[in-house]
Amino acid sequence: MEIKKGIAVSPGISIAKSLVIDAEDYRIPRREIMPSQRLVETQRVRNAFKDAISELTKIEAVPKQPEGGKIKDIFAVHLRFLHDRSLRKRITDLVHSDLVSAEYAVSAAMREIASHFTSVKDAYISERAADIYDIERRLLRQLLGKKREDIEHLTEEVAIVARELSPTQAAGFNKEFVKGIATDAGGRTSHTAIVARSLGIPAVVALEDLTETVSGGDTVIIDGNRGIVIVNPDEETIRQYEEYSRDFLELEHKLDSIREKPAITRDGTKITLLGNIEFPDEAELVLRKGGEGIGLYRTEFLYLNRTTEPSEQDHHEAYAETVGVFKDRPVIIRTMDLGADKYTQSRRFAPEPNPFLGLRSIRFCLQNIMMFKTQLRAILRASVLGQVKIMFPLITNLQEVMQVKFILRDVMEDLDEESIPYNRDIEIGIMIETPSAALTAYTLAREVGFFSLGTNDLIQYALAVDRGNELVSMLYSAADPAVLRLIRTVLQDAHKAQIDISICGEMASEPEYIMLLLGMGVRTISIAPPMIPEIKQIIRSVTMENCNNVAREVLTMNTERQISNYLRNAARKILPEAF
Ligand code: PEP
Ligand code: MG
Repeated sequence: MEIKKGIAVSPGISIAKSLVIDAEDYRIPRREIMPSQRLVETQRVRNAFKDAISELTKIEAVPKQPEGGKIKDIFAVHLRFLHDRSLRKRITDLVHSDLVSAEYAVSAAMREIASHFTSVKDAYISERAADIYDIERRLLRQLLGKKREDIEHLTEEVAIVARELSPTQAAGFNKEFVKGIATDAGGRTSHTAIVARSLGIPAVVALEDLTETVSGGDTVIIDGNRGIVIVNPDEETIRQYEEYSRDFLELEHKLDSIREKPAITRDGTKITLLGNIEFPDEAELVLRKGGEGIGLYRTEFLYLNRTTEPSEQDHHEAYAETVGVFKDRPVIIRTMDLGADKYTQSRRFAPEPNPFLGLRSIRFCLQNIMMFKTQLRAILRASVLGQVKIMFPLITNLQEVMQVKFILRDVMEDLDEESIPYNRDIEIGIMIETPSAALTAYTLAREVGFFSLGTNDLIQYALAVDRGNELVSMLYSAADPAVLRLIRTVLQDAHKAQIDISICGEMASEPEYIMLLLGMGVRTISIAPPMIPEIKQIIRSVTMENCNNVAREVLTMNTERQISNYLRNAARKILPEAF
């Protein structure tokens, strides 16, 4: 039994057999074979080595290209490994002794070797683990060939274990079978974590070397409340976790019962609780969990998981479905936020050296006007169906706001010409998620009807910490005084300009920040649907006096540690059972 500690990003407990996948979606379950199949499987191992060697030899023979020398050296090392008889024997021995498939034996043996490499302190040697993975993939490609199994077509319950998952992969998971997610990489606000939270799948990220410990078919417990993963737990641990999981579900069930009650503080201040969604069918869940509308619809997920661009009708159907659930409540549709870690499957965009600082989000839209206009037309058409608002992401300056408003007017004129109805007073808002937008908030506020604080990006850009990089995840914190000062500035400017402001970053779904946010003046919160009951419960347990005191204290503090300790203690005093 091995216990690994990571970052809890999506609550809940799962106990299931693992399915280890890599970036190429190979799933290598522990497949057992009959003794009579041993010969066939060992022959498959030998063939895979032979084919991998001939493939590599061919590549090596290609005349030198720029950088060719270095690449040739790498391939020469790979070839030496593949020619090593003891490696092949290790794998075929595994097939014989453990009665497992060729794929599983290759994966298990190579992962064991890689873990020896990574445990060596010398950086040069530990980095060689990447070569071992490369060789493993090459062998698996030979073995799996066209039989590569598709994780979208699972038939049994699994816990997904991966080095890293893209939001596209996570969004494709079938919730019926994917019971938990555990990854080596990632942070609390990486988009994969956000998708897991939305789907209600327990998840732990930033486990660093979990994939070197787990083989497909191992039992794993994923504790998305405490950020723990237990590999091959003993019976007593499984029993304890089954009990804990039952208690947790019971608590969730109890919380669901406050669905009909308002999100109101003990002294009568009403807070509006909205849901963040990625797919239209989640709107139902927001309603079921007691949300009062949609505060953030991440429409870029319409582009992921498909190879062609969605048509205006595809957009329209998705928006109409969402608005159909919340006819007289606000539905804030955010225009596509593609780029950074969210690429379409066809990867029309060439890889960028710094994608989070690159052609992302509104910048991408402003360079792809036709695609942008298609979406705007669909949003405007849906605007007659309910209380649709439109929101633009990643604004960094006033010109961008003027440009998007200009394009929107253009689209309105087109609709006028075609006599297509739309709401010409549709409210326009922007996300405040870059320091430049936060610092010029008052100027921007005079051009729009509302702001939404996107703290996930605001934190990463303010602190220069990649939101998905586990190596710097300890530096990524909403409790940093610099972040809180930016948030305070934006709240003050929005109030001064008399425009609405909400918060839709993950910070708002972390219980310890609720009192602080309320004390700083936040009155509208948008979060992942499964979090709505818990946050409502906290709101209903505090008074504005508590909240104002917390905000006053915190804003005098100068270090992240002081602030986060203070917030945890303050929350514990008010709601001891939740912390
Ligand atoms: C944010 O950045 O806080 C946000 C809500 O947007 P996303 O997580 O989709 O980048
Ligand atoms: Mg963002």
